[in-house]
Amino acid sequence: MSDANEKSKGYKPSKDVKGYQDLPPMTMTIESSLAVHTGPWRTLRPVIDAEKCNLCFLCWRCCPEPCIVIKSMDELPVVDLDYCKGCGICANECPKKAITLVMEEND
Ligand code: SF4
Ligand code: SF4
Repeated sequence: MSDANEKSKGYKPSKDVKGYQDLPPMTMTIESSLAVHTGPWRTLRPVIDAEKCNLCFLCWRCCPEPCIVIKSMDELPVVDLDYCKGCGICANECPKKAITLVMEEND
């Protein structure tokens, strides 16, 4: 077992954590999400099908970044790929199944 896994074993948040030094190893950012372009992490890219989309904007509401942009109430939402990390929550929550995740091309 790695040191990181060993350190996480038996971890009880409320009892053991007195400061960040006590947290198990994890990925974190030290700047705001706007300063950290999360787009390069992405392996999957959401693509919105204009034929299926009913402009309900639930995807905008569900995106955790948030990086789905509403330009107007009668236009297709736009994904800001500088910040989209390809988590797929938007695709999962879209009631019309209008969002498909496609593999990013490797440059
Ligand atoms: S959730 Fe789906 S149907 Fe609704 S606006 Fe987004 S893409 Fe369109
Ligand atoms: S894939 Fe994730 S980060 Fe990207 S637009 Fe959808 S919900 Fe937002």
